[in-house]
Amino acid sequence: MPKLFIPGPVNVGDDVLKAMGTPVIPHRGKGFEELYSRVQDKLRKVLYTKNAVFLSTSAATGLWESFARNCCAKKALVTMCGAFSDRWYDVFKLNGKQADKLQVEWGKAVTADMIASALKKGGYDCFAMVHNETSTGALSRIAEVRAAIDRVGHPALLMVDTISSLASADYRHDEWGVDVTVGGSQKGLMLPPGLSFNAVSAKALAAAETAKLPRSYWDWRPMLAANATGYFPFTPATNLLYGLDAACDMLLEEGLDAVFARHARHAEATRTAVTAWDLEILCSDPRAYSGSLTAIVMPEGHDADAFRKVALENFNMSLGQGLTKVAGKVFRIGHLGDFNDLMLMGTLSGVEMALGLAGVPHKAGGAQAALTYL
Ligand code: PLP
Repeated sequence: MPKLFIPGPVNVGDDVLKAMGTPVIPHRGKGFEELYSRVQDKLRKVLYTKNAVFLSTSAATGLWESFARNCCAKKALVTMCGAFSDRWYDVFKLNGKQADKLQVEWGKAVTADMIASALKKGGYDCFAMVHNETSTGALSRIAEVRAAIDRVGHPALLMVDTISSLASADYRHDEWGVDVTVGGSQKGLMLPPGLSFNAVSAKALAAAETAKLPRSYWDWRPMLAANATGYFPFTPATNLLYGLDAACDMLLEEGLDAVFARHARHAEATRTAVTAWDLEILCSDPRAYSGSLTAIVMPEGHDADAFRKVALENFNMSLGQGLTKVAGKVFRIGHLGDFNDLMLMGTLSGVEMALGLAGVPHKAGGAQAALTYL
């Protein structure tokens, strides 16, 4: 089995695996209500929200679709700054919604000024963006975006994809005035893929009441009604909820500030290594550096996928590929989730050895530079 050094799904630790091995319980019985209520409370802490939080046993893409169906009555403005945010636009269009693109250079963050002027064009009831763009390693500042939306007095719902930032970078659903947050299990939450979740403001819930698109599985209303009694309208992934319960305990015991600081430190150590190798970091704005991953540009004439193959074949090390328009040009190192200094040093040493074996031009000493930094 390859070991995962990709920006999610992450390697899952023993405590979480053990919790998921709990025998399956009936999802309409008493034990389930206790489990789900407990998990929702913990998830609210992780999301820094007192609003409604609900889970879906789907990939996070399902909840993108549920946002388009429940909240978008008129037109969405969608930022396009990488492979994941680009997909957002398609989700709106394929669900029969009007949408406009706000193009942002790959490797840069979405800034407040861009949004304020784009929203002024008018007609939007939704603005959707990705907090941490996993294809580029650029993190946008949601609090500044919120302030810009308020400055121009725009009523659009703010929807934020936190799939690769939640529980890795500071994120505050209520304080930052986000209407809908979408998260996933397979990254900072330290679980296998399969669970996604929403935190939803009262304003977004009101929009869902009057939305006109047909909805069935993605209708928030039956979900919220069942959740209010501690249950799901459908059969949930009970054992993933046990895992989430254990993972939230780990995060809350470590303390969220310490979790964010750990990610930032590992990211800085990784960038120290990349700089010492004399390679280029795809994210070109130091204010936007991601704590979850680092995307690295291959030197001209060298194929990132051929390099990744060398790492896999020699060290059983699965590195993240370049996505869509940077395919073959970029590889990505994930340093998120249940991760420590030892794992990071293994990662960086493996990358340095693979760079040598693959004949990629670089300077030696990146792993040593990271070790010194740590
Ligand atoms: N958004 C971001 C930022 C992601 O990193 C990913 C997956 O890596 C997705 C969305 C899609 O998530 P899923 O594959 O769970 O639908």
